[in-house]
Order: sequence, then C-alpha cells, then structure tokens
Amino acid sequence: MSQAQEKELICQYLSEISDPEIPVINIVEMGMVRGVLFRESKLEILLSPTYSGCPAMDMIDHLVKEKLQSKGYDSVEITLVYKPAWTTDWMSDETKEKLRAYGIAPPVGKATSKKGLLNEDPVFCPQCGSKNTEIESMFGSTACKALYLCKDCLEPFDYFKCI
Ligand SMILES: [Zn+2]
Repeated sequence: MSQAQEKELICQYLSEISDPEIPVINIVEMGMVRGVLFRESKLEILLSPTYSGCPAMDMIDHLVKEKLQSKGYDSVEITLVYKPAWTTDWMSDETKEKLRAYGIAPPVGKATSKKGLLNEDPVFCPQCGSKNTEIESMFGSTACKALYLCKDCLEPFDYFKCI
C-alpha cells in the first residue's frame, strides 16, 4: 500500500467518527481533519477545532485515538491547528443538507463575507422551510448554535452559527 492509499484509508476511518454534537455528520465532513502525517514511529493527525472552546474537542481527540488504535496505529498524536481558523465555509452543501434534515438550520452564506456571528440573511426553519423566523437566544443547545423560533410553525430550532 502506498502512503497516499494509506492516508486515504485513514481518512476513511476518521469519517467513521461522528461529531459528538451532531451524530449525522462525521468529523471529515465537518472539515475538521486538516492533515494526516506519517512521522517516524507515529501518526500525526491535524485537527481544526470547529468553535474555539467547544467542549466536544476533548471527546473528538479521544475518539480519534481510540479509532486509530483499533486499526493498529498504536502511537497517534493529535495536533490542533488554529490557523487558518475553521469556518463553516468548509462544510459542503451536502453536509449542510444533512444538518437541515437533522433539524438544525445550516449556516447561511459565507463566513468570510461577514463581520459578526449572525447574519442579516434569513434563517430558514428546518421544519417547515419558512423564513419567518427570529432569534431567541445567541446560544442554543450548545455554544456553537443559536436558538431560533419559527413564527409560522411555532417550533424552536437550533441554527448552526456561521463563522
Ligand atoms: Zn417552521
């Protein structure tokens, strides 16, 4: 097996790890895996934390080591990469669609064109598709999300903040 093939295989293993907060999306789809490096006697995985201070990061660190150890990589080192900072722009449209189907409104627009965390673009209700929604709280079930309320179906929902 060439190194490129092995890298691909490792990415495949990593894609078996779900984001602890969003079980339908794996850490590769989230755009967290920034690199797989072969060091002399160990494997180094570069990860970008999605939101700084997201408590899920410790768990992801643990899950990555556990997964790779189960595949025979005994010495795994995880390096967190903060620059460039993770952005929701790294999520594919397919991933955003999975979020919506799961009941979380996906980030709207491109983070790179925004100044703040929240945008003026309408956030669509993941339940009924209405854009008649309003923000209830900057923080939803986790700090990564904001809590919105749909004024048409009256259901509250999480909006994945665009950063
Ligand atoms: Zn609705």
